[in-house]
Amino acid sequence: MREPDRVSDWVALVDACYPVADAEEWDAVGLHVGDPGDPVGTVLLCLDVTPETLAEAERSGAELVLAHHPLLFRPLSRLTPDTAAGALALRAARSRIAVLAAHTNVDVAEPGTTDPVVDLLGLRDVRPLAPTPAAARVKLVTFVPSEHTAAVLTALAGAGAGVIGEYDHCSFRVAGTGTFRPSAAARPALGRRGELNEVAEDRLELVLPAEATRPVVEALRDAHPYEEVAYDLVPLAPEAAGGKGLGRVGDLARPQPLRGLAARLAEGLPSRFLRLAGDPDRVVRRVAACGGAGESLLDAARDAGAELYVTGDLRHHATLDALATGMAMIDAGHYATEAPALPAVERRLRMEAGRRGLRARLLPSAERTEPWSDWAASAVLEGEPPAGSADDEGKGAP
Ligand SMILES: [Zn+2]
Repeated sequence: MREPDRVSDWVALVDACYPVADAEEWDAVGLHVGDPGDPVGTVLLCLDVTPETLAEAERSGAELVLAHHPLLFRPLSRLTPDTAAGALALRAARSRIAVLAAHTNVDVAEPGTTDPVVDLLGLRDVRPLAPTPAAARVKLVTFVPSEHTAAVLTALAGAGAGVIGEYDHCSFRVAGTGTFRPSAAARPALGRRGELNEVAEDRLELVLPAEATRPVVEALRDAHPYEEVAYDLVPLAPEAAGGKGLGRVGDLARPQPLRGLAARLAEGLPSRFLRLAGDPDRVVRRVAACGGAGESLLDAARDAGAELYVTGDLRHHATLDALATGMAMIDAGHYATEAPALPAVERRLRMEAGRRGLRARLLPSAERTEPWSDWAASAVLEGEPPAGSADDEGKGAP
C-alpha cells in the first residue's frame, strides 16, 4: 500500500509554490502547530483559523489547515484558552490538526493576493507596488596561480559560490600576471624572499549570496596556495526578484469616475459594504491596490502616481493624510479584498501536488471569515447609503 502524504510533504509543497524566503521579515509563516511526520489525508484551505474553520476541519476529517493569516503571529507565553490564538492552537493540537500559514509569501506571488482586484478593475501595465528585493549578492574576485584555479573553483562552488538559477560552478576567469615581493619573514608558497616575483595567475570571478560570504572566504583561504590571498568582495546592486512584490499598480484602459469603480468592486468582491474617500465624480486612470490591510503602502501608491488606492483596513488619520495629497481611496474591507485570491492558491497547490504525486484531498473552506456582519445607514447624517450596498434598507432614509 502507498504511504500517505505527511505534513512535511505539504510544508514543502507550499514552500515550492510560495517560498518562505519571499515572506516579509516581520511575518510568521510556516508550520505553527503539528508534527511534520504526521499523515495527512485532507487539507483545508482557508483565510483565517477561527472556531468555525477549525470545526469545519474537524467535521471534514482534515489533518492539516492551511491558512493565509498566521494563527500564531505574536509569540505566546502559554498555550491555554486564555487568548484567542492559544485557544485555537490548543484545540487544533487536541484534534490532531496541524496548522500551516502562507501569508505575505502568497501576497507577493504571481498571481498574488491582489490580482483578483486588478482583474476586476481591468488594469493594464500592472506591476508590483512594492517590489520584493532579490536576496543581497556579492561578487568575489580572486587571483590564483593557474595550476591551482580548478581546485580553488571547486572549493568555492562547494561553499555556495557560483550559483545562478539552475546552474552551479558559474565563474569567469582571465589569465594574467601577478607580482609580489615576499619580506624576509614571509613564508611564500612560490618565489624567493626579498625578490620581485612574477607568476602566471587567473583572475577568477564568482557571485555568491551575501550570507555565504564567510564560508566562501574560508574555503578560498583553505584551497588557495598562497600565505596571503588577494581577493575583492564587491556588493552587487539589488534587483527586483522576478516581478514579485506587495500590491499592484496599473492603468485603466479609459479614465473612469470613482463612483463607477466603487460599484464594480462592490459587485465583484464579497464586501458587505465599501467606503470611498474622495469625490465620487472624480475621473481617474492610474489605480493602485493591495489586498488585505494595505495602509503601509499608501506612500508607495502615491509615489507610483496612483489617483486611486484600493485596499482594506484604512484608518482615520492615514486616510485623511493621503486624501490631502490628492489621492482617492476605496476601502473594500480586509476579507473581501483577500478571499477572492484563494481559488488561485488552490489551483496552484493542486497542480504542484499532482506533479509531486501527493494525494491528500485539498478542500477549500466554505466558511466566510468576514467579521463584519451588517451595516446600518446613519439616521443622524443625511445622505446616501454606502455605495454598492445590496441592501435596500437605507434607500428610504431621508
Ligand atoms: Zn490579510
